[in-house]
Amino acid sequence: MTSRILVVEDQEPIRALLATVLARAGFEVDVADDGAIGLQLAKANPPAVVLLDLMMPGMHGYELIQNLRAFPGTARVPIVVLSAKAYASDHRKALDMGASAYVQKPFDTDDILRLVTSFIERTTLTFWGVRGSCAAPGPETARYGGNTPCVTIEHDGHILILDAGTGIRKLGLHLMAAAAGRPLSLDLLVSHTHWDHIQGFPFFVPAYIPGNRLNVYGPRSAEKPLEKVLRGQMDVEYFPVALGDLAAQLAFTEYRGQPWQVGPFHVRPGYLNHPGLTLGFRIEVGGLCITYATDTEPFRTLLPMSPSAHRDSGAFGRTQDQALVELVRGADVYIADAQYTPEEYKKKTGWGHTNYADAVETAIEAGAKHLVLFSHDPMHDDAEVDHKLSECRAMIARRGVPLTVSAASEMVPLHLPTPAPAAATPKSA
Ligand SMILES: [Zn+2]
Repeated sequence: MTSRILVVEDQEPIRALLATVLARAGFEVDVADDGAIGLQLAKANPPAVVLLDLMMPGMHGYELIQNLRAFPGTARVPIVVLSAKAYASDHRKALDMGASAYVQKPFDTDDILRLVTSFIERTTLTFWGVRGSCAAPGPETARYGGNTPCVTIEHDGHILILDAGTGIRKLGLHLMAAAAGRPLSLDLLVSHTHWDHIQGFPFFVPAYIPGNRLNVYGPRSAEKPLEKVLRGQMDVEYFPVALGDLAAQLAFTEYRGQPWQVGPFHVRPGYLNHPGLTLGFRIEVGGLCITYATDTEPFRTLLPMSPSAHRDSGAFGRTQDQALVELVRGADVYIADAQYTPEEYKKKTGWGHTNYADAVETAIEAGAKHLVLFSHDPMHDDAEVDHKLSECRAMIARRGVPLTVSAASEMVPLHLPTPAPAAATPKSA
């Protein structure tokens, strides 16, 4: 099927050039010279990728990004900003608002084609729930979101679900709408069975539909099989429907030390430092590596605080922390526990979470490319998450390392272009 690209650009020569180059490469192209017309076209027929200018009369580019992100049919479409604006603040603003890439004019048409193609053959991360410990909905958390953990990785038509916090409820509705009556085969990785990571499971509609299949992967707890723990939260004392009433076919796989191949996703679990048995996941797909490691606390800070601490506890802790560093090593994206500020962590040591500064340290040590702050504390409003993010940016700038950082935000997708095998010779246009 031919992919449709929408070009929204008020300067006629650039619009015509892009339309010609994209059409020649085999894409269907829609063009608009204003944001409002672009939005109309996108809503009527959602494109595979949107290329848009920032400075346009009528509805400008920032407003168009906002509107595209707010409309369900285009909420997760990759958006490439093409602008002559070279200010870092404009780049950041566009990306923070949900743009997937920012290309400064003048551009090379070969680069644009490569970028568009990479987004079509893309891997997409979507955050359906970002909050640690307890859901925290309300106007004060509306921007980053109040649901507990649930993340999806989509690649080439396959979807992998990470955790079943309250965010999975909305994901279930989205999957049902997209399936339009066709049976679903879904894969869910559960990091651990603390309530905030499983409490959305009883509200996951696809699990109630006969003909659907749900494969659940996770750790075996010290006492009970994974299935029994999930069944436990649906006991009659807590919930009106039992796990046995779920009409989909359910299959459970517990971690026994071997990696899992789940469709195109190669998953290497590793234990994290958190009360009970908790897994982080290193997921490789399409030449990319994504590490999901939330609900974890550094051994190096925790062990010296223990009543049975030893003078070598700090040094020993650092060696134990290497397991997490290896799980993150070279990751394109590291979704990290960043629940607390360093000040809060001093009062909450031993609670099984960590602070943003530790997340930055681990990302730098492991050579990760993009750190996503995750598991936002329920006490943190949007302004506090903004503050954590700016502190991380300052830390990274001081260290002078090429690490991107963002804060997980519900329904703001992260599009990861497929790594290019080799760059073609640039051609000016
Ligand atoms: Zn936990």
